[in-house]
This record gives sequence, C-alpha cells and structure tokens, in this order.
Amino acid sequence: MSRLALITGGTRGIGAAISKAFKKNGYEVVVSYAHNDNAAESFTKETGIKAYKWDVSDLKQCEKGIEDIAKDLKRHPDILINNAGITKDSMLHKMPEEYWHDVLKTNLDSCFNMSRSVIRYMREAGFGRIVSISSINAQNGQVGQTNYSAAKAGMLGFTKSLARETASKGITVNAIAPGYMKTEMTDAVPRDVMEAIIAQIPVRRLGRPEEIARTVLFLASDDAGFITGETISVNGGHHME
Ligand code: NDP
Repeated sequence: MSRLALITGGTRGIGAAISKAFKKNGYEVVVSYAHNDNAAESFTKETGIKAYKWDVSDLKQCEKGIEDIAKDLKRHPDILINNAGITKDSMLHKMPEEYWHDVLKTNLDSCFNMSRSVIRYMREAGFGRIVSISSINAQNGQVGQTNYSAAKAGMLGFTKSLARETASKGITVNAIAPGYMKTEMTDAVPRDVMEAIIAQIPVRRLGRPEEIARTVLFLASDDAGFITGETISVNGGHHME
C-alpha cells in the first residue's frame, strides 16, 4: 500500500507543487486549506486530490481534520508536510497586536497542532515523516517581518526537539528554508523591490515551487531515513549557514 501524505495549505503555491509531486511519485495524497474554496475546487478538479477545509491554527479543528481523513480513507497520514503559512508585514513600532498573534498562530502553532494530531499514529506505526516549510527569513531576518521571522525560526527549534523525541520510532522531522520563490506571495511584492532582491541572489532568479517539492519528496523518502532535525536551505545561495 502506498504511503499517505497530508500537505497543509496544499491547494495553492508551494503546497500545490508539493502535493502534485507526491501524487506523481505514487503516494496517496490529501491536502488541507482554510479560506479559498474556489482555489481548492479547481485544485481538486485538476489533480483528483481531495481537499479538506480547516484552520491549522486551531488544535481542535486539526484533530477533527485528521479523524475525518481517517474515516474516509481508513488510515492516518504517514507523512505530514506543515506548509500552510501567511504573512502580515509591518514595522514593529506600528505592528497591530493581531498581526503578531495571527502570524504566530498560523505559521508556528500550526506545527504543534498538526504534529500533535498525527504523532501518536506515527509512533504506533513505527514510521513517520514530518517536513515543515520555514523560510530564509527565519535565518536572515527581514524588515517588517518580526512576526513571520520569529514564527519561522520557532519552527526550526520545534523540528530539532521533535526529531530527538521520535528518532527511535522510525520518524524523521526536518525543515526546509526556501528562499524567494515565484508564487502569489512574491507576486504581491512591488516590482522594484523584487528586482533588488533578485540582484542579491547568486543564481539571479527566484526559486520554483517544484524545486521545494523535490526536496520535500527526498526528505519523505526511505533514502532520507538518516536525516533528522535538519534544516535544508533551498535559496539559490541567497543565505549560506
Ligand atoms: P500561498 O499563500 O500561495 O498558499 C498558502 C496556503 O496555505 C493556501 O493553501 C492557504 O489556504 C493555506 N493557509 C493559509 N492559512 C491557513 C490556515 N489558517 N489554515 C489552513 N491553511 C491555511 O503560500 P506560498 O505557497 O507562497 O507559501 C507556502 C509556504 O512556504 C508558507 O509557509 C510560506 O511562509 C513559505 N515560504 C514561501 C516563500 C515564497 O517565496 N512564496 C518563501 C519562503 C517560505 P487558502 O487557499 O484557503 O487561503
């Protein structure tokens, strides 16, 4: 039986590329999303992948989402990709309190909520893969993103601790730190700002969502069973640890 992969925020952008790559490589795939029903419907129509609607910032909804999947498919996910994320940028001295909490809850609390909801089943199965999509801005910081950088950096510490807790159970837990990718998130950035960013990237282009997808696929594979607690940067040389 093929393994079941769940990709949060799998209906658009990087998440959609990851979901399609898993399906193409023979995995059973389900995705979650939160608001955009039209995008989810077209994604399912195009790919045949079922999309479940829940808010990853809410633990109860995550637990129910996992149980709904188990009811439908008679199994729990073997692979969890924590991809759902948002930005709400503002300089700290002007940042509304809700921007802080919204970004922390959607990007970081979601990793707790989702991993907490699946980890028991992975431990019982003696196998699991968790890959969380962090960001170059966790490593480098970014003006206007104290909330986002804090959340994405928090994911890296979460990843290391959970990796240590679960390594003996056949579960690996890793993070990917993408640089700037060509998605709706970066399409919204003004052109002159984006040109200045590209000038700083050694490979002189934005990344492609498929390049993140291939890295996720590798980390989810049996071949990557000796890699855990790691953060892999996929950023065209924009930031080097
Ligand atoms: P998109 O905005 O294109 O897609 C985000 C996805 O997350 C959507 O499917 C969205 O669902 C879902 N989502 C948002 N909030 C929630 C929520 N509360 N509960 C459940 N699902 C939610 O994002 P990208 O593809 O650009 O980014 C994907 C990940 O990669 C994010 O974590 C982002 O921070 C990270 N990243 C992106 C980079 C980039 O250059 N784009 C660079 C570095 C990291 P819905 O359609 O319903 O809104």
